[in-house]
Amino acid sequence: MSAQIGRSSQFGQSSQIGQISRIPYVDYLVLGPEPHLVAHECAECGARYFDRRNACASCGGTEFAPADLPTTGEVTSFTIVTAAAPGIPVPYAAAVVDCGGTKVAGNIIGTEPDPGHIRLGMRVALSTYVAGTDGKGVDAVNFGFAPLEDGASEGRN
Ligand SMILES: [Zn+2]
Repeated sequence: MSAQIGRSSQFGQSSQIGQISRIPYVDYLVLGPEPHLVAHECAECGARYFDRRNACASCGGTEFAPADLPTTGEVTSFTIVTAAAPGIPVPYAAAVVDCGGTKVAGNIIGTEPDPGHIRLGMRVALSTYVAGTDGKGVDAVNFGFAPLEDGASEGRN
């Protein structure tokens, strides 16, 4: 009954048993089967923040509630970064993505970091990757945005 996938059991799943094996790189990233971002939304005016606030910068309100963001959005600006601190691979594409009206800063991943593969208005989807692993084998998981359209680089010249 257990062989329905057509493979014998695999060894590689032991890292998930009984221990935290993955932690989000930023605290507004929620992992799980469907990773997503959560903002603090002002109960008074609806302004959204990713860091914790004592008061809303727009209205001064002090009540906040968690708001799940859509996992897809559109690139509203991007920069190809070609120089960075030692140890940070370049080039990479730093972008601002509009996710249902909330602007999210994140890198474009899953494509070449050049203007031929990234364009304004491009539809992207949240995607996670392992940014590093500590000495106990715990993965730090960060997010980026990957293009939704395969043809983003085709027919644009
Ligand atoms: Zn407010």
